[in-house]
Amino acid sequence: MSRPEWVRERVYVGGSWVVPRGAIYEVENPATEQTTGTVRTATSADAADAVEAARRARAGWGSTTPQYRSGVLRDLSTALRERTELLVDTLVAEVGTPVELARSSHLGQALAVVDSYAELLETFAFEERVQHTRVLREPAGVVAAITPWNYPLYLLMAKVAPALAAGCPVVAKPAELTPLSAFVVADAFEAIGLPPGVFNLVPGSGSEVGELLATHPGVDVVSFTGSIGVGRRVASVASATVKRVCLELGGKSASVVLPDADVEQAVSATVANVMVNSGQTCAAWTRLLVPRSELDAALATAAAVAHNHVVGDPREGGTDLGPVISAAQRNSVLTYIGGALAEGATLVCGGVERPEGLATGHYVRPTVMTVLSPTDRIAQEEVFGPVLVVLPYADVDEAISLANATSYGLAGAVWSADDMHAFAVARQLRTGRVDVNGAAWNPVAPFGGYKQSGNGRELGRWGIDEFLEVKAVQLPAANGAQ
Ligand code: NAD
Repeated sequence: MSRPEWVRERVYVGGSWVVPRGAIYEVENPATEQTTGTVRTATSADAADAVEAARRARAGWGSTTPQYRSGVLRDLSTALRERTELLVDTLVAEVGTPVELARSSHLGQALAVVDSYAELLETFAFEERVQHTRVLREPAGVVAAITPWNYPLYLLMAKVAPALAAGCPVVAKPAELTPLSAFVVADAFEAIGLPPGVFNLVPGSGSEVGELLATHPGVDVVSFTGSIGVGRRVASVASATVKRVCLELGGKSASVVLPDADVEQAVSATVANVMVNSGQTCAAWTRLLVPRSELDAALATAAAVAHNHVVGDPREGGTDLGPVISAAQRNSVLTYIGGALAEGATLVCGGVERPEGLATGHYVRPTVMTVLSPTDRIAQEEVFGPVLVVLPYADVDEAISLANATSYGLAGAVWSADDMHAFAVARQLRTGRVDVNGAAWNPVAPFGGYKQSGNGRELGRWGIDEFLEVKAVQLPAANGAQ
């Protein structure tokens, strides 16, 4: 199935649709392995044009009132809602995500973030007073938003909404594999009459368009979400211009089942969490830590729950897991699983074979395994597929140290019969977010990484800070007195 909105010959720069200078990129549907859309890509010259357009828009947009920008974000939310079916279809086609997940999570969370910034602007303090000093929070300038393919719409809005709220124009570069949903966002901005240059869209390669944005002296902030390797590269090339670089990188998060927890509930929720979006979620709880005495029970539950996850056509209502994003990603996941088995890991469920009845599409079986050592590669590195590693621990101190024993620090979970006991353990985890006993996602709570999971915080009032400079204006006593 293809739609006219999935054939894009122009990119959105300076409020106009212009023909870019790059090649045609064929967007593959990972479930069918067929081309589902085409995009004419931007080159570094197009990206430079977009930066110039954003610079021209900077002063005007930066001097609008918070109330005005709040209204624009509300209009954007409405325009995106009007495009619900197109957005859901697009996300299913380009990501391979199951239709209900596309609606509730990919789109639902994107809208929640846009709405949250429209609301925040009604009360956010852009100015405060410290003795005789007026402290102003001013827009940081032109923002480059570089995003990955796993939640392309949500992750784009987690940057665009706070950047616009702060008063910054944006140049967006979506992932090569999933550019189509970003075009619908540009359509929505055009429809609501966003001033020219405030949102610009330049799809293209990371090495060309992404790097141009990271190095361009006209870009003031790079907000990057993606892998550690590319994050390091972005930070390094951006350093020549000393611009601000906000990195949201990968994870290897632990779900810690404390000895007093309901093991079945905790394990079931952890397996479900890992399988969401076929395991392609940065914050997924990919390591399950259980008391050694509960290991057998935990493995039995994990195997049963994983086995019950339906892998199949993402357009079908009952599907839990669609394919992973690409043949390369599938190969990478299978290499992790195969490598772990060769190192002595034990398969509890899943494995490297194709799921039955799915000869086409980049499908991977929901997989659960135990390993010989928590230092094994599959227990340390981000697999980014539907793979859960179960690790036993002797006591709570060991559970905490195992949870913290990776180079990542993005998220985690703690399970206990006592919320406050779980909270005490959560405090000891070196990660940016911890969910206690399956608590719900909060769109206005900060999200970001400790350690090599990144240096930024998105969402809520922390998310807007990434796009604000702080200016102290000292006033003479006559005007500065409290
Ligand atoms: P990636 O790092 O390969 O690509 C991310 C983006 O960077 C893409 O748009 C890509 O084109 C661009 N890029 C590539 N090379 C570049 C360069 N040299 N300069 C500038 N830009 C460049 O990541 P991916 O494979 O698309 O996404 C998966 C990764 O993203 C995983 O590691 C996942 O954990 C991470 N992720 C993190 C979060 C978070 O909030 N912390 C959220 C989602 C995904």
